[in-house]
Amino acid sequence: MPTEETVDLAAEPVEAALRRLGSDGEVGLGEANARERLARHGPNALPEAPTRGVGQALLSQLRSPLIYLLLGAGGIALSLGEVTDAIVIVVVVLSNAVLGAVQEGRAERSLSALRKLAPKIARVVRDGREQAVDAHDLVVGDVVVLAAGDAVPADARLLTAVDVEADESALTGESVAVHKSAAPTAAGAALADRSSLLHAGTSVVGGRARAVVVATGPATQVGHIAALAGGAEQPPTPMERRMKRFGRLLLVAAGLLFAVVVGVGVLRGIPPAEIAMVAISQVVGMIPEGLPVAMTIAFAVGVTRMAKRKAIVRRLGAVEVLGSITVIGSDKTGTLTKNEMTVTALELASGARFDVQGVGYAPQGAIVPREGGAPGNDADLRDLLQVAVLCNDAAQGEAPAYKPAGDPTEAALVVLGAKGGMDERATRDASPRRGEIPFSSAEQRMATEHGAEGAPWLAIKGSPEAILRLCTKRRNGGRDEPLDQAAKEEILASVQAMAGKALRVLALARADGARAAEGFDAIADRAVFLGIVGQIDPPRAEAKAAIARCRSAGIRPVMITGDHVGTAAAIARELDLLRPGDRAMDGSELAETSDEDLAREVTRVAVFARVEPRQKLRIVEALQRRGEVVAMTGDGVNDAPALVRADVGVAMGSGTDVAKEAARIVLTDDDFATLVAAVEEGRLVARNLKKVLLLVLSTALAEVAILTVALLLGYPPPFLAVQILWNNLVTEGVITVNLVLDPPEGDEMHVPPTPRDEPLVTRAMAKRLLLMSAAITTATLGWFAFRLESGAAAEVARTEAFTILIVCEWFNLLSCRSELRSALRFDLFGNKWLLMALILGNLLQVAVIFVPFMNDLFHTRPLELRQVIVLGVVASLVLWVEELRKVFARRRAARTMLLRPA
Ligand code: ADP
Ligand code: MG
Repeated sequence: MPTEETVDLAAEPVEAALRRLGSDGEVGLGEANARERLARHGPNALPEAPTRGVGQALLSQLRSPLIYLLLGAGGIALSLGEVTDAIVIVVVVLSNAVLGAVQEGRAERSLSALRKLAPKIARVVRDGREQAVDAHDLVVGDVVVLAAGDAVPADARLLTAVDVEADESALTGESVAVHKSAAPTAAGAALADRSSLLHAGTSVVGGRARAVVVATGPATQVGHIAALAGGAEQPPTPMERRMKRFGRLLLVAAGLLFAVVVGVGVLRGIPPAEIAMVAISQVVGMIPEGLPVAMTIAFAVGVTRMAKRKAIVRRLGAVEVLGSITVIGSDKTGTLTKNEMTVTALELASGARFDVQGVGYAPQGAIVPREGGAPGNDADLRDLLQVAVLCNDAAQGEAPAYKPAGDPTEAALVVLGAKGGMDERATRDASPRRGEIPFSSAEQRMATEHGAEGAPWLAIKGSPEAILRLCTKRRNGGRDEPLDQAAKEEILASVQAMAGKALRVLALARADGARAAEGFDAIADRAVFLGIVGQIDPPRAEAKAAIARCRSAGIRPVMITGDHVGTAAAIARELDLLRPGDRAMDGSELAETSDEDLAREVTRVAVFARVEPRQKLRIVEALQRRGEVVAMTGDGVNDAPALVRADVGVAMGSGTDVAKEAARIVLTDDDFATLVAAVEEGRLVARNLKKVLLLVLSTALAEVAILTVALLLGYPPPFLAVQILWNNLVTEGVITVNLVLDPPEGDEMHVPPTPRDEPLVTRAMAKRLLLMSAAITTATLGWFAFRLESGAAAEVARTEAFTILIVCEWFNLLSCRSELRSALRFDLFGNKWLLMALILGNLLQVAVIFVPFMNDLFHTRPLELRQVIVLGVVASLVLWVEELRKVFARRRAARTMLLRPA
C-alpha cells in the first residue's frame, strides 16, 4: 500500500479507515480472507539480505594477508624454477580456502537457523477471536492487539488506545516516547506527527491498544528505509578482535624472521634459492592458519549447544563474556520461582482470617475461616472477591489442565473468586469495565472502573503499601469505618507475617464515585480498604541446585524483585541465595543511597526487593564499579536500559519484545538454571578455543625453532616449505578444528571466572607452550641431526623429521585436551569427530610417505614400516613430557584445593 494512502488513513476517522481496509474493528478479518490477502500481497517481512554465494565465501577466505604471503611464496618458488612446489602451494592454499569456506558456511547456516528459532509473534483478532500468529502472516486489515513492551509488527492505524506511548527512536531518532491516540491527525502530517499511526520497527512502551494494519513488509515505513532492511552484521567479538591483533603481530614477527634468515643465509654463503625456500618455510610455519576457522566453528557450536539448552544467543560476543561473569542479577518471579500462583491466605479489613484450600489453578477448594479467629462477614468477603475478579485481565483455564490466560498473579485471583462462588463470567458481565488505569511496576497498583452512568466506582488492587496509601476507610460488617494509623500498622504486620512465609501479598480496595480517567491522585481520600491476599509461588525445581553451581563457579547470585522484602528474603533463604552475613536491601533504601555508598555496600547485598525496574540500572552500575562482570535478567520495558548496560543482558522468552531486543541472550524457558547452563557452555567454548590456540601455537613455535636452530648449526633445512604447508594447512585444517567439539571435562563450573582482560596467551599457557615446543624441537631436530651424522641421505632424514613433526602434533592434540588430566585417560571416544579426524590424518600421512606421486610433490621418500615405528616412539617424547608436567600440576592443584577454604 502506498505511503500517501497511509497518511490518509491517519487523518481519517476510525470507521472510515476500517471500511477502506475492508475490516471490522470488533471481529477483525475472517481467517479465509486473511489467507487470501497473504497469498496475494506476500508475507509481512522485509526482503532478506541475499546470502553469500559460494564464490563470495571463497573469495573472503582468500582475502587475507596470509594468503597473499603464501601466494607470494608460490611466486618465488616459480621464479626459482620449482614449478611443482609452486603448484603444490597454490593447490594447498586453494583447498584450504575451500575447506574453510565450507566449514564457515556450515557454521553460518546453523547460526541463521537459530535466529529463526525465535519467531516474532503478533496478537490479532480474526473471526472475532483473539489469537497469536507469526508476525510474518499479518496482512493489511488485520486487527492487532498491542500492550506495553510489544514490538509493533506492521504499520497500523490505532482503533482504541489507552495511555499508549511508543518508542519511535528506531525510525525518527527521537528517544523520548511519543503519545499515541486513535484521534485522526491533520491530513498530510509529517511522520513524527502521525499520532494515530504505529510503525513497524518501533515498540509500544506504555498502555494498551487495538489497531488495524495498514501496511506490511516492504510497504511499511521501515521497508522504505533501505538501510534498515539489510540484515544486521554481528560485530566482532572481543576474542575475534584480540585474535586479529595477535595475527597482525605475528605477521610483523614473521617479516622480521624472514629478514634474519636471509641475513644469516647470505653470511653463510648458502645459495639464494635455498635461503628463499627456508625463509618462506619459516613464515609459513609461523602463521596459525587454522585459528580463524576454528574460532567461527567454536562459536557456532557453542551457540547451538546453548540453544539446545534453551538459551538463544542474540549477540555472538555474549558467548565469551559468559565465561567471565562474576555476578548474576536475577528476577525472582518466574525465573527463580515457577510463577504459578495460588492464593493460600486471605485477611479481610476487619481482621478476619481465612485459609484457602487447593493447589494450582483448578477452582477446587474452599475458603475456610482460620480456627480461633474472628468469624468473617460474608458480604465483606464477597466485596473483596468481586474486586479480585473485576480488577483483573486474566481468564480462568479449562478443565482438566486449567491453564489460565494472562498474568499468573491475576489468574490466581480469578481462581480465588471461583472458590468463593464469584464466577468470572457472571461477575464481569454484571459489572462491565468502563475504564482502567493499567498496572505498572513503578506504581505497583492498578484500577478498573465499573458501575452505571451516574454511579461509577473503581476496583483497585496492588502492593499493600501502594494501596494503603490511598485508603482512609475500611470495610467492616458491610459498613465503612475510618482507617487510622494504628489499624494500618496492624495490617502491615499481617502483610509482614504472610511475606515471612514466602507469600506474595496483594491488597484490594474500592473507591466509590471515582473514575479511572481522574487517576489515582483523585481517589486518595475515597478508597476503602477491603483486605489482603497471600499467594505462594513455589521455587523452581532446578533453582537451588543452579545457585549452588553458581557459587562453586565463583559467581554470586543476586535476587532483584519488585516483591515485598519479606517475601523475597523468605524465598531467597529457601534457595540458599540469602545466607547469614548477606543482607536484603529495599528499593526505598536504594533510592536514598548515594552511588558511592551503593558501590561500597553492593557486594554484601544478596536480595534487592521492592525495586523499580529503572533502579536495576543503578545496581548494574554499582556492581560494575566494583569490577564485577554482570549478567542481568529482565522482561519488561523498563528493564531495557539495565539489560543494555549489563555485560550480558538476559531477557525472558515470555518477556516483552523490547526487553528481548535489548538483551544479548533470551532464555526461552525463563529458567535461572538455563542461564547457569549457558554460562557453563560459554566457559566450554573459551576452554576449547584455548586448546586449539595452544596446539597451533606450539607447533608454529617448534617449526620456527627447528628451522632456525638447524640454520644456525649449519644443517640443511629439516623440512621444506611444501611440507610445512602440508602440516599447517592440511593436517591442522582437518584435525585441530575438532578440538572445539570436545565435551565438557566436568570441572567447568568448579573454577573461578576468567578475568575479562585476560591475555590471549596467559602465563600458564605460555609455560605449557614453551615446554611443548621445546619437546617437539628436541625430538625432531635431534633425530634429524642424528640421522645426518650417521650418514643418511638428506631426503630420507627430512622425510623422517617431517613425519616426527606430524606425529608430535597428534600426540600434542591428545595432550591439549586437558590441562590436568592424562591424555591416556581422557575419554577419546567422547569426541568422535576428533577420533575420525585422527584416523583421516593418519591415512593422509601414509599417503604422503608411501604413494609415489605424493613423494614427488612433497619431496619425501618411502620409509620402512620398522622405521616408522621407531619414529613414532621418538615423537612420543612430547606426550611423556606433558604427562610428567601433568603429574606435578595435579599435585599442585590438589595442594591448593586442600588449602582453599570450603
Ligand atoms: P516481581 O515480578 O519482581 O515480583 P512486580 O514489579 O511484577 O515484581 O510486582 C511488584 C508488586 O506489585 C508485587 O509485589 C505486587 O504486590 C504488585 N503486583 C504485581 N502484579 C500486580 C497486578 N497485576 N496488579 C496489581 N498489583 C500487582
Ligand atoms: Mg512481575
